[in-house]
Amino acid sequence: MEEKLDFARVRKLMVENQLISRGIRNKKVIDVFLKIPREKFVPEHLKEYAYEDGPLSIGKGQTISQPYIVALMTEALDVKGGEKVLEVGTGSGYQSAILAEMGCEVYSIERIPELARTAKKVLEGLGYNVKIKVGDGTLGWDEFSPYDRIVVTAAGPEIPPSLYNQLKDGGIIIMPVGDRYFQDLILVKKIGTRMERRSFGGCQFVPLIGTGGWKDEGEM
Ligand code: SAH
Repeated sequence: MEEKLDFARVRKLMVENQLISRGIRNKKVIDVFLKIPREKFVPEHLKEYAYEDGPLSIGKGQTISQPYIVALMTEALDVKGGEKVLEVGTGSGYQSAILAEMGCEVYSIERIPELARTAKKVLEGLGYNVKIKVGDGTLGWDEFSPYDRIVVTAAGPEIPPSLYNQLKDGGIIIMPVGDRYFQDLILVKKIGTRMERRSFGGCQFVPLIGTGGWKDEGEM
């Protein structure tokens, strides 16, 4: 009989070898990554690779981000619990689950209906109450704004103005900014009319498609 993969064991190895060893220090972030079953967020045939050190395909030309990048963004968001967070790019729903488990009230927008549907099902199955909508996330989600935190998990040429406008004073937005293939992970803190900007270095994300992002070059 085929032996079942011990996901808890590989999850722990991922946290040690990919997160802690690269400098993720926030105890709450580490605990959350030890808890969330990433294998539930990847397609059936890729489950055995769920804890690999890289992004994985989730269909429709999209990916679930590398664990380290999700951890880096989560740590940079600096949440204590109770924050209202907007995510642009639900994808698999993994980042939403991480934020919900951190104690945040999560609103997430995905442009591809099939992905939104699957993510919703997985999140509900795990008992997370994440509000998901299908649409162009570059326009934000005005109805529930302003947000304490905004995390954009697809890459665009600049921070979409609508998103910045829906951020609270003192709030943080994090987003990969650059060209279609290479970007810098940028964090901006809104302090009154001032912007405090910080870079976390190079990264590669799938493109943010929409009004405040890139033009659609045809479905994959
Ligand atoms: N946070 C996700 C990563 C998904 S990849 C996870 O944890 O799995 C980025 C996602 O952004 C893709 O699913 C893509 O379809 C979506 N996306 C791209 N442009 C978008 C837009 N304008 N609005 C909402 N979602 C968008």
